[in-house]
Amino acid sequence: YRRLLVSAFLLSPPLLLAAQQLPVEPRVTALLQQMTLEEKVGQLNQYSGRELTGPASNRKTSLLSSISSGQVGSVLNVKGVADTRAIQAEALKSRLKIPLLFSLDVIHGYQTVFPIPLAEAASWDLDAIRLGAHVAAREAAASGIHWTFAPMVDVGRDPRWGRVMEGAGEDAYLGAEIARARVLGFQGEKLGGTDAIMACAKHFAAYGAATAGRDYNAVDLSPQQLWQTYLPPFKAAADAGVATFMNSFNTLNGIPATGHRYLQRDILKGQWNYPGFVVSDWGSIGEMVPWGYAQNAADAAQMAITAGSDMDMESDAYRHQLAQLVKDGKVSPDLLDDAVRRILRKKFELGLFDDPYKFSDAKREKRVLSDPQNRAAARQMARKSMVLLKNDNATLPLTKQLRTVALIGPLAKAKRDLNGSWTVDSQDTTRITSLYEGLSQRAGKTTRLLYARGCDISGTSRAGFEQAVAAANNADVVVLAVGESWDMSGEAKSRTDLHLPGVQEELFRALQATGKPVAVVVFGGRPLIFNDIADQAPAILYAWWPGSEGGAALADVLYGDYNPAGKLPITFPRSVGQIPLSYQVYNTGRPVTKPGDIRYKSAYIDAPNTPRYAFGYGLSYTSFRYSDLRISRAQLQAGESTQVQFTLTNTGKVAGEEVAQLYLRDPVASVVRPLKELKAFRKVYLKPGESQTVTFTVGPDQLAFYNQQLQWVAEPGAFTLMVGSASDDIRLEGTVELRP
Ligand code: BGC
Repeated sequence: YRRLLVSAFLLSPPLLLAAQQLPVEPRVTALLQQMTLEEKVGQLNQYSGRELTGPASNRKTSLLSSISSGQVGSVLNVKGVADTRAIQAEALKSRLKIPLLFSLDVIHGYQTVFPIPLAEAASWDLDAIRLGAHVAAREAAASGIHWTFAPMVDVGRDPRWGRVMEGAGEDAYLGAEIARARVLGFQGEKLGGTDAIMACAKHFAAYGAATAGRDYNAVDLSPQQLWQTYLPPFKAAADAGVATFMNSFNTLNGIPATGHRYLQRDILKGQWNYPGFVVSDWGSIGEMVPWGYAQNAADAAQMAITAGSDMDMESDAYRHQLAQLVKDGKVSPDLLDDAVRRILRKKFELGLFDDPYKFSDAKREKRVLSDPQNRAAARQMARKSMVLLKNDNATLPLTKQLRTVALIGPLAKAKRDLNGSWTVDSQDTTRITSLYEGLSQRAGKTTRLLYARGCDISGTSRAGFEQAVAAANNADVVVLAVGESWDMSGEAKSRTDLHLPGVQEELFRALQATGKPVAVVVFGGRPLIFNDIADQAPAILYAWWPGSEGGAALADVLYGDYNPAGKLPITFPRSVGQIPLSYQVYNTGRPVTKPGDIRYKSAYIDAPNTPRYAFGYGLSYTSFRYSDLRISRAQLQAGESTQVQFTLTNTGKVAGEEVAQLYLRDPVASVVRPLKELKAFRKVYLKPGESQTVTFTVGPDQLAFYNQQLQWVAEPGAFTLMVGSASDDIRLEGTVELRP
């Protein structure tokens, strides 16, 4: 019987197929044995190929000959089947014919532009986020790309930092869930699928904690915060099988991340046993010299490879220094082999040795890039990402009865701005639907749409106010589109002033004075500050930078064809002076003096401590009731879990989705814990009047934190469980006790 079973097993068709292909590791070893020192170093170099597709230049000629002589492992910033094929052909002229990896920043879509990552995070919809990454990967792969430098999984708690737009916001748990969804979206379950590309978790680590929100700046961070807040999304990405990591420009506690042994060698490749490879950030190996950490390029190269940086993006340090460092005995051959092995492994896993042009097929490129499903997915994602911040007197949704709508503002007809920064082809605005176009299509024949620009995004001219006020006076309702331009957030776009630029808020006040209801749509790559609008406007919809389908998606939301359900993944401050501000505040030594007093002893004398809009906040066109909290076991022994259940009911008149959130507090612990930490969430769709039971599990992983020895422990005692609609809107509370 056993023999029968074994032969049936061996003869099953998938296994027969697998047996024909040698496993990856022996293939890597065999190749490594044939490589010269120079060829090994070659695999570690990555260069931008921008010049390769332009007119002839010296750099072009020298880069091409480096490629054909096996001195380049990867090229970034080249895309499209024709160009990637032509350059791959050069690599295949090299002695060992090792194919190149084509890499690119595919951050929120390739050709079809999805909302910026921070906006997607506001959906709290992991399936939609995963689909967004998958669509981007499918388009990019069809265009010859093997590898994206995404997702950026840096936690960001300082909206002055322009790169908050690229991440999932301020929270470790939400960030980890989203990191996992994005990695699986880009890569699929296993590398090698034709519709997938390698992902890259960046920037390792703590880049988001840059001092004063200034990009590329030094980071000083306690070990607890590093482990508790900044590392979990990276760990989640590693656990999801992310093929690569990118290190970072910043220092961490005095050591450049690129040369940080503890981060890369000890944590990533040690404790986490990570099998992928680490690419440096652009020129970050060389930057250890100006930081004052390395004497010169040779020093920097030695430090970087020793610390665990496998591939050198654009520093030219490995290229010119590594071979000599190995010959001089300063870098061990094993260290070099380990880096080469990690890179070759991924090239094998991708299938590039079986077909170096695998991702390049002109017919597929055309078919995939014109697939209407891509745009449909982007529109769906854009709707899901929008956050309704205010809606007094049911100002929204707009109804068909409205005869005249005045669309006003510098972003009403904007196209390029809707895509935000980090787009692959920033010149291409042909696929973008503006808010004006979206509304005109949706408003139909019964509604008249008036338009006035009012003012520019920046600048001080009020010349357009009069016309804008006239339009408002002739309308039943005003939709005002304000915000940042696409190039005000992103890399190297730190700002000290987060108010709406220019005279936009003044324009709002002029329109508000007409007495007409003003529904404000705000575009931006980060939390902006607009206190007058927040106080006075009856309705506010935060649209972020919603991508190429943004205008259509906005029409869906403004007219109520889609009921908004987004929740803020990052705190919106009242003033820049409160920054950094997150929902994870502490009960300071002298806490609340009177019940109900929201002013802690640790307070400002000129402003409240509370944010303008809290983490997790967002309204709907319907309302939800939370009731009947049930905790299955009030007392737990070590290692045990409990179920936390409650009933969620749609108490309004339209169907909608609610993101129910579970927060936890550990009131007494060996390291002081914040008042609330997000531990779970669920997005639930309910018809009017419908109820559903929501169940969360709370066990060792939810109760634990990093103690003083940086061990992940749950300490005995009572824990407070809070269920609610936002971090500042807790509806149900209970306790659970962990027994000693
Ligand atoms: C950024 C990275 C990016 C790289 C390549 C750097 O300046 O920090 O996030 O992937 O450039 O474009």
